[in-house]
Amino acid sequence: MTEDKTCGQDNYGRSKKLGDKNDLRIKAIENGTVIDHIKPGQALNVLQILGVNDNFTNTVSIVMNAGGERGDKDVIKIEGRELTEKEVETISLLSPKATVNIIRDFDVVAKRKVSQPESICGVVRCVNPNCITNSNEPIETRFTVSENEKMKVLEIRCIFCESVMTKELFKYIL
Ligand SMILES: [Zn+2]
Repeated sequence: MTEDKTCGQDNYGRSKKLGDKNDLRIKAIENGTVIDHIKPGQALNVLQILGVNDNFTNTVSIVMNAGGERGDKDVIKIEGRELTEKEVETISLLSPKATVNIIRDFDVVAKRKVSQPESICGVVRCVNPNCITNSNEPIETRFTVSENEKMKVLEIRCIFCESVMTKELFKYIL
């Protein structure tokens, strides 16, 4: 991954003002990432994973509940940003069918489905308040990831306390 130099930030994280011409339209992005086929309703949680908050100054477009023959999905376009492997893994927890498209010079140079990792480290905190990872010990959380056949959902299991988590994982993202 190369550092993008057109991200519009100076060393203090301040943005350059966009011209009025760029307002009121969602256009193709020049360099960045399009995350497609996000599970409907998960776009805002994905933005949280990517650290998009008040301080984020690059252009971000969000389409929620985009229609289409194959059903609803959310889509995020994010200018001047490529995703780390950890971010892709975390997105897979919320939206296993999402695809990540890397855009350079308006072209899709890489397209991949998020893949379900076998384990995740330091991404989610444990639901169990008594877990050692929730103590003051400097221990990184670690969960094994699998499919819960009965519930048809993703299941993560803490390797320290065996707590199993399936629902609303986004609430536990670190
Ligand atoms: Zn635990």
